[in-house]
Amino acid sequence: MHLSRFPRVHLAHLSTPLEPMKRLSKELGVDLWIKRDDCTGMSTGGNKTRKLEFLMAEALEQGADMVMTQGATQTNHGRQTAAFAAKLGLKCHILLEDRTGYQDGNYNTNGNVLLDHLHGATTEKFPGGHDMPAEMERAAETMRAKGHKVYVIPGGGSNSTGALGYVNCAFELVSQANDAGMKIDRVVHATGSSGTQAGLVTGMCAMNAQIPVLGIGTRAPQEKQEQMVFDLACKTAEKLGCPGVVSREDVMANTDYVGEGYGLPTESGIEAIRMFAELEGILLDPCYSAKGAAGLIDLARKGAFDGERIVFLHTGGAAALGGYDFAFDNTNRWVSL
Ligand SMILES: *Cc1c(COP(=O)(O)O)cnc(C)c1O
Repeated sequence: MHLSRFPRVHLAHLSTPLEPMKRLSKELGVDLWIKRDDCTGMSTGGNKTRKLEFLMAEALEQGADMVMTQGATQTNHGRQTAAFAAKLGLKCHILLEDRTGYQDGNYNTNGNVLLDHLHGATTEKFPGGHDMPAEMERAAETMRAKGHKVYVIPGGGSNSTGALGYVNCAFELVSQANDAGMKIDRVVHATGSSGTQAGLVTGMCAMNAQIPVLGIGTRAPQEKQEQMVFDLACKTAEKLGCPGVVSREDVMANTDYVGEGYGLPTESGIEAIRMFAELEGILLDPCYSAKGAAGLIDLARKGAFDGERIVFLHTGGAAALGGYDFAFDNTNRWVSL
C-alpha cells in the first residue's frame, strides 16, 4: 500500500515504540505489549498526530490560512490541532462542547484548554447536546466572509483523510512485529469518533494481517459505535482503492466500560490509571485511554485473552490529567517519615 500518494506533513515521531509491559503482564497473567502512540509528538503526542499529518497537508494544499475543529472541553484532538496550526503558521479556532457539566476550575481552564491557548488557538464554548458540526459550519462561514480560507476538520479528525494515519499505523505495527519475529494475536485500544479503529482495521484487512482489533468504547453504545467505525472503514478503503476489503465482522467494539457517559471518569478507569502509572510508569487519561485500559484489564482478568499476545495501542491523552485532578484522591501519598 503506497500511502505517499496522499499529501502528508511529516511531523510525527515515528515509528512509535512497541514495548513489553512486563509488570502488568505478570499482574494479569497475559502477555501484554504496548504501542506508544502517546509518544507521537506535537504537544506531547497522542493518536490525533497521525491523523493530522494527512488532514493538515490537505489544508495546506487547499491554501487554508485557518483551521477549525470541535470537541469536548478537554479535547486532545483540539490541542494537537492547535499545535499543528502553530507549527505550520495557520490560525486555529476550536469549538468546545460542554459534555460533562463540570464547573471545576481545572477542568475548564487547565489541561488541554491551557495548552490550546498556549499554542495560540482561540476557543468558544457551547452547551452539551449542541449541533457542533452545524455550529462549526456557521463559524467557518463567518470567517470566510471576513476573507479567511478556512479548512474544517471534523471532531476527532475522523474522516477518510484522517483515518489514513491509522492505516499507516497498522503497517508500522505489523512491520515492527515482522522484524522482531513477534506474533500479535490482538490489538486493543480506546475508540471514540472512530477514525483510529477505522484506519487500523482497514490497514489490517488491506494487508491481510489477520490481527483482530478490539475497540473499547468511550461514548456510543456498541451497535452505533461499530456501525460508525465500519462506515468510515468502508470510505477509507475506497479512498485507498481497495473498496470492500473490510467486512462488518472485522469491526468489534466492547462498550461495557463507558460508565455514566463521555468524559466522566469511572472507578475501573481510575484503577487502570493507577496500575499503568505504578506498574509501568505510563500515564493514561480518564476520558479515553483509561477506559480502553479498564476494558483490557477486566477482559484479561476474565480470561478473554488467555494464551494470547495482546498489543494495547496507547492513544495518548495524559495532557488532560491536569483538568481531571478532582477525580483522584491522593491524600495518602503525603507522608512524614
Ligand atoms: C480521540 C482519542 C481517542 C479515540 O480515537 P478516535 O479516533 O476518535 O476513535 C482515544 N484516545 C485518546 C487519548 C483520544 O484523544
